[in-house]
Amino acid sequence: MSRRKEERTNKSKKLVIAGPCSVESEEQIHFLAGLLSDIKQVQVLRGGIWKARTRPGGFEGHGNIALKWLSEAGKAHNLLTATEVATPAHAEEALKQGIDILWIGSRSVGSPFVVEDLAESISGCRNRIMIKNPTSPDLSLWIGAIERFSLKNIPNIGVIHRGFSTNWKSEYRNEPKWEIALELKKVFPDIPVIVDPSHIGGKARLVEGISSYAMNLGFDGLMVEVHEDPGKALTDSLQQITPAALGNMLKKLQGKALRKPGKKLLETLRVREWMNDIALTHRLLTEAKAGLSVKTKSIKV
Ligand code: PEP
Ligand code: MN
Repeated sequence: MSRRKEERTNKSKKLVIAGPCSVESEEQIHFLAGLLSDIKQVQVLRGGIWKARTRPGGFEGHGNIALKWLSEAGKAHNLLTATEVATPAHAEEALKQGIDILWIGSRSVGSPFVVEDLAESISGCRNRIMIKNPTSPDLSLWIGAIERFSLKNIPNIGVIHRGFSTNWKSEYRNEPKWEIALELKKVFPDIPVIVDPSHIGGKARLVEGISSYAMNLGFDGLMVEVHEDPGKALTDSLQQITPAALGNMLKKLQGKALRKPGKKLLETLRVREWMNDIALTHRLLTEAKAGLSVKTKSIKV
């Protein structure tokens, strides 16, 4: 069966989306699509077209022209295509160019106004629409975004867990807080929930461990950032892996058994989360105390 057809018909298979953080050139996306289509588990080619940068001045994506490159690369190599849309104009353009899957980025999901406008603009759309978690660990905000798309008669919704921002130093770029994503899975048992280990980890060396953990917890697939030469990537260069590394990783993950997360596992994750929070608070207080004592010594009264 062709992979393009398979995503639509084989619901029991894990969904694997892979591709560069940003589409950097027409040659690049064709080259990567060729390598990724050789990996049998990959069904969808991803690529960012409009990149929201924290500060102005960085590479902000090639815009509309790159949609055409992405769409053609997918078709040429028998892969579905996916990109992030942040405005109704993005969504309209992406659908016009034949992009198969649209995802809503974490920062957009944090704003109910943005979500409502996007949902309204594509109401009734039958393409798969994937909703990332908001950057803050707020389950209701995430649920609310899913509901807004559902209410606009959008039947093929999916969800992407990409971790949450924290105001402390963490090993992760975005803390996974697995229990929130598992809770969401319980609220919407029929919606596939996949994991984005690249934005959770923020470092290439963490991608495999996070992916393996996600598979053990029974998530429905992965979205992985892949670049032909990660060190030279124009965006998110630290977290992208090569197509060869992705192929090896997926081979190793292939045997992972599906485990339905029961009540006990959820409770264990919650307790682990509390313990992490307590350890962190302790560390931050100890550091603050040490800092204050140094300052006090230097104050002459
Ligand atoms: C991305 O997938 O490239 C992206 C920007 O993701 P997020 O919205 O999770 O930051
Ligand atoms: Mn990225």
